[in-house]
Amino acid sequence: MFAPFNAIFEESPPREYKRKLIKSVGSIEDATMASEIFGIPMPEVVFCEMNRTGVSLELHQVPVKFRVRFLCDEIFSNKSPMFFALPVKNSRQTKFRVDKNSSLFFNHSCIGDTTNVELDTCDCSYFRKNKRVLNLNSNRRGDCFGCTFCIHNYTLYDNRVLKDDRKIIDKDSLKNFLEKEIMPKNGFPDLGCLEQIAIVTGLFGQEDLAVKHIVNVRKVAEALGFRGTIFYLGCELLSKKSFEILKDYQPISLCYSIDCFDHREEFMVHKKGKITLINIAQALGYALNRGFEATFSYIVGLDSLESMAKNVEFFSRYVNRFPIVNIYQTQHSQQRKNMTPEATHLEYFLKARKLFEQAFAGRGLYPRNWENYRSLWYHKFNSVDLLE
Ligand code: SF4
Repeated sequence: MFAPFNAIFEESPPREYKRKLIKSVGSIEDATMASEIFGIPMPEVVFCEMNRTGVSLELHQVPVKFRVRFLCDEIFSNKSPMFFALPVKNSRQTKFRVDKNSSLFFNHSCIGDTTNVELDTCDCSYFRKNKRVLNLNSNRRGDCFGCTFCIHNYTLYDNRVLKDDRKIIDKDSLKNFLEKEIMPKNGFPDLGCLEQIAIVTGLFGQEDLAVKHIVNVRKVAEALGFRGTIFYLGCELLSKKSFEILKDYQPISLCYSIDCFDHREEFMVHKKGKITLINIAQALGYALNRGFEATFSYIVGLDSLESMAKNVEFFSRYVNRFPIVNIYQTQHSQQRKNMTPEATHLEYFLKARKLFEQAFAGRGLYPRNWENYRSLWYHKFNSVDLLE
């Protein structure tokens, strides 16, 4: 049985105390108040607000509507640098600003120092986790379109945003890419230093092509010394047959891109929107039964909290790894049309955080900061420190 929705927010104020909806926070004082109401550390409230509303740049290093990425040192006096990837807004749209001296401001408060403020060109293959994880965009995600919440559906970017101009699908091109580019450019004698190769790319169009690609990546990378996990983020592995084939190429981690629970046919490219939540649960079940890691990715901002509570509770039983939960960042005005009306307020995101924490309490599964730069969590999950 699902937990009744009201029971999720036991800490809600009593009926006689009517507080105002937290639409946004405009200062450290506001964030402290929201932090006390929701029992979420103040810096985490600020990070959620920043991911939701974006950042303005005094030096205009990156145009408005594009995405910027930077490292931030000493943020709230935290010693480990944090990485952010945010939509660039004008100064009327957000309280966050990187000034001429590269300091990050929240309203009038300096909250950190940024380095490497640059255009986010997420269409390319890239590393995470100090080069221990390679994200492979082997099937030109920049060319994938059809989901109305996805930035790839819009012609927003110009040629300043680098795109993968080739596919790296078959064994020869994979070998060439890994052996002739990735290894020499990064000083790797082989691929033994990689913990994970993540396939995060555009749709293959056919399930067997996705399976074949995963097998190719395993075979080619293994011949170059790779012994880690192949992580597949996508929606094209559905049949028992696929998991039967792939069980011989373990370790594999399946991250099913659910993205949203409601309006699936309306918001998604036809093929993806046709896949039901039951189909997905079944696929996750096939993966779990064959010893895969299994989880899902989800965008917070598209579904009502009520639907989210019910469905997160349901899917929490089909995973053995914490889901990748992204804050919905909008760059194009059309993307805002997909937003559930509740998601125009910060409170929605704080409540979403609480309901995920409740659904996963006691499971020993936690968000990983290095795999998600627009997370609902940064340093704490429930009362647990997220240390890497
Ligand atoms: S399938 Fe994924 S990459 Fe392609 S349009 Fe949809 S969300 Fe974007």
